[in-house]
Amino acid sequence: MRSISIFGATGSIGESTFDLIMRGGGPAAYRTVALTGSSNIKRLAEMARALNAEVAVTARDDLLPDLRAALAGTETICAAGQAAISEAADRPADWVMSAIVGAAGLVPGLRALRHGGTLALANKESLVTAGPLLMATAAKYGATILPVDSEHSAVFQALAGEDQAAVERVIITASGGPFRQFSMAQMQAITPAQAVAHPNWSMGQRISIDSASMFNKALELIETREYFGFSPDQIEVIVHPQSIVHALIGFCDGGIMAHLGPADMRHAIGFALHWPQRGHVPVERLDLARLAALNFEAPDPARFPALRLARAVMDMRGLSGAAFNAAKEIALDHFIAGNLPFLAMAQVVEDTLARLSHQNSLQIAATALEDVLHMDHLARKTATQIVAEAVASRH
Ligand code: NAD
Ligand code: MG
Repeated sequence: MRSISIFGATGSIGESTFDLIMRGGGPAAYRTVALTGSSNIKRLAEMARALNAEVAVTARDDLLPDLRAALAGTETICAAGQAAISEAADRPADWVMSAIVGAAGLVPGLRALRHGGTLALANKESLVTAGPLLMATAAKYGATILPVDSEHSAVFQALAGEDQAAVERVIITASGGPFRQFSMAQMQAITPAQAVAHPNWSMGQRISIDSASMFNKALELIETREYFGFSPDQIEVIVHPQSIVHALIGFCDGGIMAHLGPADMRHAIGFALHWPQRGHVPVERLDLARLAALNFEAPDPARFPALRLARAVMDMRGLSGAAFNAAKEIALDHFIAGNLPFLAMAQVVEDTLARLSHQNSLQIAATALEDVLHMDHLARKTATQIVAEAVASRH
């Protein structure tokens, strides 16, 4: 029986993964090693009961008594805290879903890779902050990393059987988010409630807002570079409001292979779950006649500066991805809290990178975990300082 773990089980990707596992036979077909969550103890406990999980872990120490109470009478071991999440990743499983949001997903993913097996990687922040370390760890332990981002799963699928040397360019699509047609003036007044309402995808709060600012696409540019190894000038973004074409590969003979699918993450998750085979995945089938038109347009770098910042990170590499992601997470926290205007998020990230580039540490290769974590910490501190200065200057 195949063993699985889901890190970030209670989130949007975690729920979709759980859905596929249950439809695939649940505890009769899979042995569930670990499920992790954070505040939603009720849901974590329901999932652990449904799958007879060996261990259930909440990121929140204070909620351990609640988790224990919710799982009373079961054999599931309960634990809490970041260290316990990482320890859960030390328990071997054949297939591990990495779906914690943010840099917190890095260490559990790295620890899971040490068992070989397959890491289904939704946590794109792992590749952005520590791409070389993650890929080297997988190679060292003979593990397979499969991308679980719609665009990267699409690239992976379109590349199957192809010679990567014959690839001229890789194009990932972006929906353009809720503010695709907003003027710069309208963008000054965007609220968190507006930013979280994505037109096509149902996702967690943080990635939804990142999609609206195109910071999500910025992370995905870096993710494409780090996972597939294409050079930055080969990787493009095109805005495609319908979110039906997820990525396209242009080959040296002028042909393009495109991957199409509904805007439902269960496709990419199901692909990773069944790989190297293809399995049945219960997503809606595309009705092309009803879709009628697929539109494409160039992204606007003036209104979405995150894309330009990502280019700088793709060129510089080193620890700049860790700094970029950490500064973005801080800026996002402050936007959600109402301290920072929408457009100021990119300014905070840009200023953080500029300040840190004066110290030469951004150039250090992202090959040692302690260097990555140190830069993550430093960039959070710097970004917090920059936000405080911005807030003070407005009063
Ligand atoms: P989400 O906010 O819905 O869920 C996040 C999960 O992580 C939850 O289980 C939460 O309990 C857990 N979590 C949050 N903070 C944590 C912490 N500090 N430590 C441990 N666990 C913590 O997020 P999501 O939309 O499911 O996204 C998860 C990851 O997948 C992100 O990296 C995101 O970029 C990526 N992703 C998501 C989608 C999507 O459609 N939702 C698509 C592509 C990639
Ligand atoms: Mg994506």
